[in-house]
Amino acid sequence: MAYQALYRVWRSQRFDDIVGQKAVTQTLKNAIVSHKTSHAYLFTGPRGTGKTSAAKIFAKAINCPNSKDGEPCNHCEMCQSITAGTQEDVIEIDAASNNGVEEIRFIRDRANYAPTKAAYKVYIIDEVHMLSTGAFNALLKTLEEPKESVIFILATTEPHKIPATIISRTQRFDFKRINASDIVEHLEFILKETDIAYEEPALGVIARAAEGGMRDALSILDQAISFSEGTITLDDAMQVTGSLTDEMMNEYLNACVKKEVPKALESLNKILAAGKESRRFLEDLLQYCRDLLMYQQAPNLVTEQTSSVTSAFIELSESVSADQLFQMINILSETQNEIRFTNSATIYLEVATVKLAQSSSLLSHQPVSTVDDQLVKQLQQEIAQLKKEINAIKKNGVSTSGPSQPQPQPVHKKQASTYRVPTERVYNVLREATRQHLNHVKEVWDDLLMSLSVTQRAMLKASEPVAAGPTGLVIAFDYEIVCQRAANDEDLKLSVHNNLSQMIKDYAPEPVYITRESWPEIRKSYLTHVKEEGTENSFAPEESEGEIELLPQEQETSSEETVVAKAEELFGTESVTVVDD
Ligand SMILES: [Zn+2]
Repeated sequence: MAYQALYRVWRSQRFDDIVGQKAVTQTLKNAIVSHKTSHAYLFTGPRGTGKTSAAKIFAKAINCPNSKDGEPCNHCEMCQSITAGTQEDVIEIDAASNNGVEEIRFIRDRANYAPTKAAYKVYIIDEVHMLSTGAFNALLKTLEEPKESVIFILATTEPHKIPATIISRTQRFDFKRINASDIVEHLEFILKETDIAYEEPALGVIARAAEGGMRDALSILDQAISFSEGTITLDDAMQVTGSLTDEMMNEYLNACVKKEVPKALESLNKILAAGKESRRFLEDLLQYCRDLLMYQQAPNLVTEQTSSVTSAFIELSESVSADQLFQMINILSETQNEIRFTNSATIYLEVATVKLAQSSSLLSHQPVSTVDDQLVKQLQQEIAQLKKEINAIKKNGVSTSGPSQPQPQPVHKKQASTYRVPTERVYNVLREATRQHLNHVKEVWDDLLMSLSVTQRAMLKASEPVAAGPTGLVIAFDYEIVCQRAANDEDLKLSVHNNLSQMIKDYAPEPVYITRESWPEIRKSYLTHVKEEGTENSFAPEESEGEIELLPQEQETSSEETVVAKAEELFGTESVTVVDD
């Protein structure tokens, strides 16, 4: 005998067998018992939630001579012919394949004849939203002239596509997504009945992948059974659904929460390598974070709804604050929007990973406004100092800022920072930097990213080339933690060096890493440095955020004149510059 799909074998034959739709089935049973059925019903709800099963059970119950408490007997000739689909008075139509006016007219004509064998003629029109406008009009005419012994049951996953004139003539029932725990329970029941061994977590994975649809759950279970060797293991379920184990999800999120970027990226890499689709992974992550958040507020509810509440889950929920989870959920939904139309979803996931790890760290820092205040104060001081200096230069031709500083100073950040910007090396690049070099690098930047390994790419994704010369390249990072990591990564340096040389002929610059935050300061202090050294500046920086516009190469001038000209230019455009002293 040919193998029969589980969802066929285990199709509900009684209202009470339909999982997760108690309210609907009870109302239908009551209507049958009290003989208060309607001429037309509209069953709406997600796929696989029991709409057509309920329709067939209804057709049986209303026609079964042995019907009891609104349930069919399923043994009489009538019940069995309806179950088998051979009862001519119960007509099932799939509108997805019969959306023509002719079909509906045909129904209309036939509906005029009384049922031959059954008490009621029942038309079940599945996916009714697929009907054409003409067909809907024909259907409407039929519904407008109800016959005593004819009942229409319209089923749809998309009720908004059905004309209001039709909806208003039906009694509507909304089928809900089925709870994961209800699905698990049903799967367990089936497996026990059929004597198939299973690991319990496997069922949770299947239930979640089914997203509230029992038919999907059974199809996945089918696949898992054919995949497994005797026992349905968690691994089998994972393979079939492409799901993550809670373990992997936990590992990943744990690394993010603990700001362990490398570990998080590694974990992500592992997950993607296991064949997990990026978008699906994001969905799962969002769901998981949502579960964590909900668990903090209403543990019982979550335990009921999902099967992901493990000891590791509880541990994670205790180690992460609600604020942190909000941030993470925001980042994840933003990323979900971003990857909707891109082919490089992986890259966005990698960036999201870095952001997730970063988001958690925000909490331990000062509020942003404080930082801004500090920055403003510092800049005000620096402006005052510079004004003083310029006045002095104009008057005396000397600087008031004491002895000049031939050695560049490392640029310090306002907050405790772990990454020390290699100012001297940046200056070396700036000394010979040209706009042309930078443009070349920018042109191939995306290709360069694609040529790197997943982890390397993730590091560089939230970065940008900001200056380039014949031998050096300055890369600015959005996140200090990533910058630090890149600086320690010899392989990355080599890859950038080598891969760039393959993309731009005879060009293999040494990368130098800085934080984006430090870039404006570095440029400014470099300018000061140039003035003090009297070095010629061929540095052509990118125009960025209108913060500071360095002058392009000028005619031969004395270093002091250059400073005045530059400073005047700066103030003339109401920009701000910084003397690093
Ligand atoms: Zn019967």
